Amino acid sequence: MTLDRDSFYLDGGWAAPASAQMLEVISPHTEEVIARVPEGTPADIDAAVAAARQAFDQGPWPRMSPAERIDVVAAFSGLYAARMGEMADLISAEMGSPTSFANLAQVPAPWMQIESFLAIAREFPWEAERPGALGAPVLVRHEPVGVVAAIPPWNVPQFTIMSKVVPALLAGCTVVVKPAPETPLDAYLMAELLDEAGVPAGVVNFVAGGRETGEHLVAHPGIDKVAFTGSTAAGRKIGAVCGEQLKRCSLELGGKSAAIVLDDADLAVTAEGVKFLGVMNSGQACVAQTRILAPRSRYEEVVEAIGSAIGSMVVGDPMDPASEIGPMVARRQQERVQGYIEIGQAEGARVVTGGTGMPAGLDRGWYVKPTVFADVDNRMRIAQEEIFGPVLSIIGYDGVEDAVRIANDSEYGLAGTVWTQDKEAGLAVARQIRTGTYGINTYTMDFAAPFGGFKASGLGREFGPEGLAQYTEAKSIYLESPPM
Ligand code: NAD
Repeated sequence: MTLDRDSFYLDGGWAAPASAQMLEVISPHTEEVIARVPEGTPADIDAAVAAARQAFDQGPWPRMSPAERIDVVAAFSGLYAARMGEMADLISAEMGSPTSFANLAQVPAPWMQIESFLAIAREFPWEAERPGALGAPVLVRHEPVGVVAAIPPWNVPQFTIMSKVVPALLAGCTVVVKPAPETPLDAYLMAELLDEAGVPAGVVNFVAGGRETGEHLVAHPGIDKVAFTGSTAAGRKIGAVCGEQLKRCSLELGGKSAAIVLDDADLAVTAEGVKFLGVMNSGQACVAQTRILAPRSRYEEVVEAIGSAIGSMVVGDPMDPASEIGPMVARRQQERVQGYIEIGQAEGARVVTGGTGMPAGLDRGWYVKPTVFADVDNRMRIAQEEIFGPVLSIIGYDGVEDAVRIANDSEYGLAGTVWTQDKEAGLAVARQIRTGTYGINTYTMDFAAPFGGFKASGLGREFGPEGLAQYTEAKSIYLESPPM
């Protein structure tokens, strides 16, 4: 069966692209082309925005009741649940996510997001009367923000599309999604399922393309809000355009999260946790715990535990259920990660496991060796910059205050963890870390709670009632004249 596509999902149907330009989807494992799909151009974006604008300004969707929209999204959820295995395979094929991770986080997690947003929407104060401060009641409404541009990255494509499209739909918005050029295939399947669920024409439109296509979408006057997940560099540019045009904007950006190992930590538990959280999705995860902060008193023990956990990981074919680490998404990403491993060596860090070159037994595919550096200083580039590959840095600290200082000494503020047998001590650390999410002996994202970044990790929040509210504008209607 071919994975090729020749159209875009626009205005409730499959429309021919404006140009003959094609994107090649290349398997990171075999380096072979697995599909060709049309590449969106500014003309395709114009058509998608026009359809979304028409559906918002004239169509039924924003005028339906929240309960009616909930029914349509619930139908989508049921259809999605039935196709999760197929969706996971598409993502593994496109970007090389190990199938074990794809069937855990790449697809079931987005489905859980839908269910969570449905529950939140059922309780959301779409229209609520308040007594008012002047003695007369006020009606506060949450109205849809308008036409939304949803721009996801390639690393967790369904996870980051769902966190935007579902709350936007529930709020009554219409959407143009621009999938990343590396991962258009999962988005095509999602479009089919939304269509089958009965989402009206023009309410969701998909045009895959690269940076220039995204820039055209962001700057388009028909867009009211941009919801972006990707690099901090692109987020700054998008935020500047939105600021100039006073568009609503939410940005989910990069991270360099720290796992603080307290001196009472059970190192077997910690090493298992860090093995998953440090290099999940082959290290291509925004919340990856890539700085490991170890107490000087147990430094070599931590290095030994984490070095052997990472050094024993199975690297290989993403479709093999035994693989724990797959290839990098693209040759440029493989080169980037290799480059950082060289930088770490040049900066004087010690390679505990891994290093440059291909992993043993592999002679093609965009693989790197999972690598752990010890003797890292937090000011080194490998400790400050987001590598986005399976590369961990172990940094020593003197006392908990020093650990908190080092964890916060980062331009990013996305996530973090603390490992300890004393929950209160863990909570005391958690309260001092300047990040949007934090875990004590765990890091499991909960879609009922807000997720997002402090500092250069972003603006705004996804998930929870906060994530739904980002797709609304609050309007106050003064119902009567207050008594004089
Ligand atoms: P990227 O910024 O290069 O691209 C992300 C998306 O934006 C792609 O669809 C791309 O085509 C588009 N794009 C790029 N520049 C644009 C511009 N100027 N205007 C409009 N669109 C533009 O990022 P990437 O390499 O695809 O993804 C990796 C990055 O994403 C990492 O930094 C990672 O930390 C971050 N990320 C963050 C989260 C989060 O929730 N905070 C989640 C996943 C990934």
